[in-house]
Amino acid sequence: MLKGIYVFNPTTNFDEMFQNCVNWGINWIVTPAYIFQKESFQLCKKKYEIKICVIFAVYNQQEYLEKHPEDYCITSIGKEAKYEQRWLHFACPSSNRFIEHQKNELTDFLNKMAPDMIALDFIRFYVFWERVYPKTSILDIDDGCYCERCLDNFETYRDQPLGERTARWIKINALSEWAKWKCEIIEKMVKELTEIIHMQNSHLPIMIKTVPWLSESFGGAIRSIAGQDLEILSPDVDFICPMTYSYMTKHPSQSIHEVASEQQQISHKKIIPCIQVNKAYLDEDISKEKFDEMLQYGLQAPSAGVILFLYETFKEDLEKQEIFKQRILST
Ligand SMILES: [Zn+2]
Repeated sequence: MLKGIYVFNPTTNFDEMFQNCVNWGINWIVTPAYIFQKESFQLCKKKYEIKICVIFAVYNQQEYLEKHPEDYCITSIGKEAKYEQRWLHFACPSSNRFIEHQKNELTDFLNKMAPDMIALDFIRFYVFWERVYPKTSILDIDDGCYCERCLDNFETYRDQPLGERTARWIKINALSEWAKWKCEIIEKMVKELTEIIHMQNSHLPIMIKTVPWLSESFGGAIRSIAGQDLEILSPDVDFICPMTYSYMTKHPSQSIHEVASEQQQISHKKIIPCIQVNKAYLDEDISKEKFDEMLQYGLQAPSAGVILFLYETFKEDLEKQEIFKQRILST
């Protein structure tokens, strides 16, 4: 069973972190390249029997986009997709220049480093799903990409002009074509990136991060908004990791199991739901009872493990650590 935890803070005391993970029963650390490449991280890694999954943020690239703002995704309200304390900077998935840049980044990283797994994150069209709450209409979900290049490409794809070049017109009049067009773009990107990974190491496992939506949620938004079709993405990957942060999205804890179960049935791959440890975007803390409930749904079959979000908050909470240790012992 994969028992993982996210680590994003580059100033983390890595020796302490690895030791903590051993004590908690964690066997995978999931972290970006900027942490994995640190010498102090690599030195600690050699001392512990913990595997490392490196996150490759496919379309979330602040540094590149600030140099090439013309490659930003344009959202349904006509803005560049950059929000939330500056951490989210989303690219247009039709920009060939951006795609080539990302392929080169991945190749360069794998030439230098040898992680135990790669997680393709932000492998979708722009949507801030963390704040898409139950009963939201698909018309009200802010998504992308509505840049001129994407709208031109979509017109060519459907072989007829759009009645209006707006998100609303497309969602009302051409949603199934829009979904298919988006899913094919994401499929192509996954294929190209997995080819690069397998050229370097044909046995390196690959995970994809998915939005925590059922196929019918928000009128089929996992395909028409996010562009993620698990049926066509799954042949190229080994693990599916739905970001089932039910607390922040105001969904019942049971939805963690429902999403994981459906995504496993569609993909036939190992499914690893993510579990939120403490509050994010909403003010209310997550009680230990609520954490336990979410963890139990996350571990329920057909789950092949869980990834805790995230180290910094889990480290501060002794009660949740005890709950985690007990639950994974009894699974
Ligand atoms: Zn675009």
